[in-house]
Amino acid sequence: MPLTATSQPENNMLKADLVIRGGLVVKPSGSSIANIVVRDGMIDEICGDVDTPPAYRVIEAAGLHVFPGMWHVHVHFREPGHTYKEDFESGSRAAAAGGITMCLDMTNNTPHPTTLESFEQKKELVAPKAHIDYALYGGGLYPKTVSALAKAGAIGIKIFNTRHIKEIYPYISELGVVDHGVLYELFEAAADVGILTAVHHDDSEWCKRLTFRDYIDAGRVDAAAYREAYQKGYMYGHGMVAGLAASLYYARITRARLHVLHLGVMPVDAYEMIRHAKAHFGQDVTAELETAALLMTLEQAQKVGPNAYLWAHSPEAGWESIRNGVADMLVGEHAPHTLDDTQAGWQDNFSVPLGITGAQEFIPLILNEVNHGRLTVEDVARLCAEAPARRFGIYPRKGAIEPGADADFTIANMKAHNTFMGKDMHSRAGHTSWEGVSVSAMPVYTIVRGQIVMDHGQIVGAAGYGRFIPGPQAVIS
Ligand SMILES: [Zn+2]
Repeated sequence: MPLTATSQPENNMLKADLVIRGGLVVKPSGSSIANIVVRDGMIDEICGDVDTPPAYRVIEAAGLHVFPGMWHVHVHFREPGHTYKEDFESGSRAAAAGGITMCLDMTNNTPHPTTLESFEQKKELVAPKAHIDYALYGGGLYPKTVSALAKAGAIGIKIFNTRHIKEIYPYISELGVVDHGVLYELFEAAADVGILTAVHHDDSEWCKRLTFRDYIDAGRVDAAAYREAYQKGYMYGHGMVAGLAASLYYARITRARLHVLHLGVMPVDAYEMIRHAKAHFGQDVTAELETAALLMTLEQAQKVGPNAYLWAHSPEAGWESIRNGVADMLVGEHAPHTLDDTQAGWQDNFSVPLGITGAQEFIPLILNEVNHGRLTVEDVARLCAEAPARRFGIYPRKGAIEPGADADFTIANMKAHNTFMGKDMHSRAGHTSWEGVSVSAMPVYTIVRGQIVMDHGQIVGAAGYGRFIPGPQAVIS
């Protein structure tokens, strides 16, 4: 407190901007009921009633859970270039509605942010549109630009070590780094500046050869054939594990810091490879586990149809990866497409883009698993806030409920019911891959740097409030 108790009577205590009163404050280390005092966008103190000053705004949070602001480290807001599917405004609005305070945006844009110029251009373009705080990946394509992207504030270097069998993904064919020599050079360059590399692994030629042989050349291409090819490990299967194996090795000998994307999509051997890299080699590797790999039933995937590139094929292995530390954090991949983009996939699933929605659904789905007894609230604080903030180098400014941290909170009602429906989605894609799925917990406030941006489902913040959060290698001039 700036004023001492002796110099000022209590009723003259300096008014705070915001007090969150009486909620269960959830930290990875434990939870307790307390008041949180916010000034100037930061947490000033966490205290009991006696020490709590009056405030311009009070949230009565008794009966609610106050989490550190939830992170979403895998969104595709489609800007620039594909804004008919989503843009930074609609995507970040969906995330705010879903209790997200901070997101990391991917790079398969047109133009793709693989050079300093295109990265700066994207930064400028999205700045007036964000409802929540955000960081941007730099695109990994040219080893020579990695250092400039890191200095310009990229949160990491995203590498698409994959190219769709018909070159549909990553939408911009040249973004696919399928040459392991180039992957190696990107790792060398990233290791030089210390920036994290986030990789979608694959062995694209293997995948292409086998899928053509048994499906496309055999005339079996509908949505059911795709699901069979996935189950067999041809699509997003064994090729991804083989790519991961190579990448783990190249990352180890280049000392690149590796962040593995799409854990849970791949067959289960991926978990053991990552465990071995961490435990045996002490390698600097982390992994994000996809919520759909835990919760997307085959029935739901069949209903979603062509967009659903995965379902929960081995959910118990996924849950185990959380318990044994192979999975460091959770994500709810948000890769929106319009239904028009993908409807032809019912007939030919190998010729349409794939991707499910998740910005708005991710946190409710995860909180629901607390009610199912699969996770504790402390797990959620760790897996969705502290761990990503630490890994991406923004801790304890974010990801912590401690004095001096940004006042980012996700306040949840653990007894609120909701059923996901397309009409309630903020995403421009206009539908949800979780249509008809019910949850028993919902975020009721999203608070970013002390400002309420979502209040009981209503967006009350403004586009442009969200701030660009530069990565730890940024050089601010
Ligand atoms: Zn993605």
